[in-house]
Amino acid sequence: MVESVRKKSMVRIQSPEEMVRFVQKQKMAGRTIGFVPTMGFLHEGHLSLFRKAAETSDCVVASIFVNPTQFGDREDYINYPHDTERDARLAEEAGVDALFLPDESAVYPNGKEVTVKVNEKTEVLCGKSRPGHFDGVATVLTKLFNIVRPDHVYFGMKDAQQVAVVTSLIQAFHIPVRLISCPIVREPDGLAKSSRNVRLNADERKEAAELSKGLQQGMDAVKRGERDFDKIADAVRGYYRTHLKLGDIDYVDVLNYPDLKRNGKMLSGRFIIACAVCYGHARLIDNMTGDTSALFSEKDREA
Ligand code: AMP
Repeated sequence: MVESVRKKSMVRIQSPEEMVRFVQKQKMAGRTIGFVPTMGFLHEGHLSLFRKAAETSDCVVASIFVNPTQFGDREDYINYPHDTERDARLAEEAGVDALFLPDESAVYPNGKEVTVKVNEKTEVLCGKSRPGHFDGVATVLTKLFNIVRPDHVYFGMKDAQQVAVVTSLIQAFHIPVRLISCPIVREPDGLAKSSRNVRLNADERKEAAELSKGLQQGMDAVKRGERDFDKIADAVRGYYRTHLKLGDIDYVDVLNYPDLKRNGKMLSGRFIIACAVCYGHARLIDNMTGDTSALFSEKDREA
């Protein structure tokens, strides 16, 4: 079943109605649908999600839609990088069967008449510095989930807060889909791959490798037995103080995951060490997650 779908070339679909028909046809043929929402300008991080979807679902749908309602900064939205032809080629090579490329009026036929509001997990990390961002994310994903009706959706842990919020969205609205979170894909020097990395100049790009090294200081402190949230965060901040000359720290925080709160006085259970650092036109985010009750392995750093 998987093979026969894979050999067909990828279709490009623009209208929600056509997407609904495509998915209905796949389901009638007994195929499971895996869905990967993206904003395009694809890199290895996105492709890892497509490949995972191709391994675990019969039919892979990916979307490219730069969602205006999740951008607070108009400049960032207008200047979001895009290259649809390159994206289409990469998506097809990575096993995508249908690429959904809707325009804004198709996704928002009634403008902002009805939107989704996320009330928890949004006062911390990126939610704090990007008010309304996760409302925009939850709104567009609710729309896309209703159009694509996937069995599985695939999200990268690069956006760990998004994974936590979407998990809540799925539960709150009884959306019949399983979320599969995938590890962060990094450059050889440790920088998490991101569509926004192209905005870094050479010096900024070099320095950006320090972000993950700083987070690793926090992970190392936990491994040594440190359980004080603030002291773990201080280990990261201390590293950044001496290694970041160009970037401005937006936040460094240590929280339980996926609750995104500090449960208790001392760190225990699943946790996240996360940061956001701003360079001229690029705000970079990164994180590492782990579990104090599990032995650390290479995988714990990423997944
Ligand atoms: P975006 O296009 O930035 O909205 O990202 C689309 C999906 O790709 C999200 O689920 C991201 O978390 C995921 N993603 C982005 N960068 C990476 C990365 N470096 N590693 C793994 N997943 C990623």
